[in-house]
Amino acid sequence: MTAGPDHQTIALGQPTVGEEELAAVAEVFRSGWLAGAGPACRRFEERFAKTAGTAHALSTSNCGSALFLGLKVLGVQPGDEVIVGDYTFPATGHSVLQVGATPVFADIRPDIWSADPAAVEAAITPRTVGILAVDVAGQPGDFDEYRAIADKHGLWLFEDAACSAGATYKNRPAGSLADIAAFSFHGRKGITAGEGGALVSDREDLIAHARKLHTYGIEPAISREGSGGLPIPSFHELGYNFRLSDIQAAIMGVQLDRLPDLLASRRSVAKLYNEAFTELDGVTTPVELPDREHPWQSYILTVAPELSRDDIALRLRAQGVQCNFGTYASHVQPLYGKTETLPVSADAFTRHLAIPMHANLTETEVERVVETVREAVNALS
Ligand SMILES: *Cc1c(COP(=O)(O)O)cnc(C)c1O
Repeated sequence: MTAGPDHQTIALGQPTVGEEELAAVAEVFRSGWLAGAGPACRRFEERFAKTAGTAHALSTSNCGSALFLGLKVLGVQPGDEVIVGDYTFPATGHSVLQVGATPVFADIRPDIWSADPAAVEAAITPRTVGILAVDVAGQPGDFDEYRAIADKHGLWLFEDAACSAGATYKNRPAGSLADIAAFSFHGRKGITAGEGGALVSDREDLIAHARKLHTYGIEPAISREGSGGLPIPSFHELGYNFRLSDIQAAIMGVQLDRLPDLLASRRSVAKLYNEAFTELDGVTTPVELPDREHPWQSYILTVAPELSRDDIALRLRAQGVQCNFGTYASHVQPLYGKTETLPVSADAFTRHLAIPMHANLTETEVERVVETVREAVNALS
């Protein structure tokens, strides 16, 4: 089969991994410690806490398990309500259900799609215990406003920073903006080990408790290494296996080395797209607010209401340009059984179009994406 470069598919997202990651994995093989919560995880956690601007970090199997652990150690109970930014991958709402509590979804800002502080405050009831705010596509939400609301009502604040590695808000790194934050290292995120996650906080008690829960309710084996006797732990609390493996942690170490370059590449792609699409009637470019740095986990256009987002998407796919909807409106998912409509999030869910965004895109590929989007939009206008 021959296909010229013009006919090759341009991926929506793609990890940047190579020989360095393979070498790091080989080193873990040689060390013999392949399981989780070992020396490679420890090294990664120390470095990742610095990236997130927090005192402590715990590596986890994914972001969903980090969210779950975070809610557990914050003491969320059945009957509690947690306010959740509506526009997100539903792992966010799921985590609240997983601890037996009720997610109460808050509508979003129309420009950056994170929870609208006014909607958050309006959603508070006597059963509310905290706010779980999502950095949509990685750009942080309004954490000063969330903090003021949380303090006024005696709530905790949790940042779903799944897509946010390397982002900032008022010069503070994503991850340090709330009482606790969860990251994802899934293959579609800015840095990845295929799967993986982290829970970060300045609060030593929260991370220490989460560390136990993530290893079946006991201290990880590494904490018993080198002790003179034969320490035998006992189990007091129901725990889980939510560990990142040391193989993945080694990969993440290399991904952290790459992070500045990956962010720079994504930023330059976003700049090219912004320049090209500002001129194009029928689509609106994503907003990066001046007081925050967007990590561009994805690049999402908003299609004008009179055009069909789905038809544009099908045309792009037919031309080998991968694309997708933005992310999910949570409140319309049948699982949650909600009846009210959150109009801004519902609208974003129908009009958003994610186009290729990753650190491996070449300028030629970006040009081809731009041209294909332009043709599709013009053909359907
Ligand atoms: C990807 C994502 C998650 C889930 O991450 P996993 O690592 O797959 O569990 C949670 N929240 C948001 C906002 C995400 O984008």
